[in-house]
Amino acid sequence: MKYLLPPVENYYKASLHTHSTVSDGKMTPEEVKAHYKAAGFSILALTDHHIVAAHPQLNDPDFLTLTAIELGLDSEDYAPPASFFGQTYHFNLIAKDPGNLWQPYPPKKITDRNRRQAEAAHWDQRERICSAECANEILQRAKEEGFLAIYNHPTWSKQRYPDYAPLKGLWALEIRNTHNVLNGFDDNNHRVYQDLLELGNRLAVVACDDTHRPHTVGGSWTMIGAKELTYPAVIEAMERGDLYATCGPAIHSLTLDGEMLKITCDPAVQITVQTQARFAKRVAGDDITEGEFDLSVWLQKSAGDPNAFFRLTVTAADGTYAATRAYFLDEL
Ligand SMILES: [Zn+2]
Ligand SMILES: [Zn+2]
Repeated sequence: MKYLLPPVENYYKASLHTHSTVSDGKMTPEEVKAHYKAAGFSILALTDHHIVAAHPQLNDPDFLTLTAIELGLDSEDYAPPASFFGQTYHFNLIAKDPGNLWQPYPPKKITDRNRRQAEAAHWDQRERICSAECANEILQRAKEEGFLAIYNHPTWSKQRYPDYAPLKGLWALEIRNTHNVLNGFDDNNHRVYQDLLELGNRLAVVACDDTHRPHTVGGSWTMIGAKELTYPAVIEAMERGDLYATCGPAIHSLTLDGEMLKITCDPAVQITVQTQARFAKRVAGDDITEGEFDLSVWLQKSAGDPNAFFRLTVTAADGTYAATRAYFLDEL
């Protein structure tokens, strides 16, 4: 039997997209930590706009911060009306090494709020242009510099298939963004995930709050199965894909036993399996807490397909859901 989610002792609740007073958030980094700690989180990436920042002073034995930045590839003259109508690319970069304060372009503006972080950061002089070409250059460079890149809120960014199809080198997609959903945007990006996978990308999935104010804290999160709460162990688990994204139900186990895929989870009304092919499975009912899916046909027909994958979605009665990453045939 193969464990698709490792049976480690702890799955740590992680918030991988938040803002503080270092950029346009309303809470100080200390206040952001206090809110997330109270909501049961153990991992926090403060992804302030345009400034890479480390917050080691917030770490304690039960709480770990990740060094990070949110990039926005809007051009220098991004201002109304372009900022109202126009497209943009937003990516979060998470440093694999906590002391890595590289960023691809200078801070947009240095103010009293971000001066300390800006002075610590060191940057390239790349241009910020809203194009897939520019995005890919930055993603490539960020990878070389030791960062994991997340593609944020494509719905809010007004991005469509031609905008995201060319992207390469992403570590994960933000499948849900609480801040945008609460503001009325449908940033539940299942279709974008499916498209990126079908295009041959191997990427994980995360669900994030994009917190600027307290009301979004704990709306979406990523559960990371790390062997301990240390920076290297958490990054290792993220790179391995030992995680799932959720805005409600927990997944308790996910295994492949021969040709049978098995999941146990919090009470749900639907569990689906989707693949790269015209093959899907679904169970539905009241308070389902497990699902078993016979993958024999998919396994047989997908043999030799380097892009063959499956992924699961668990939907609860209140509409909240958990999403697994895609599992590829050659890793089973
Ligand atoms: Zn953003
Ligand atoms: Zn953001």
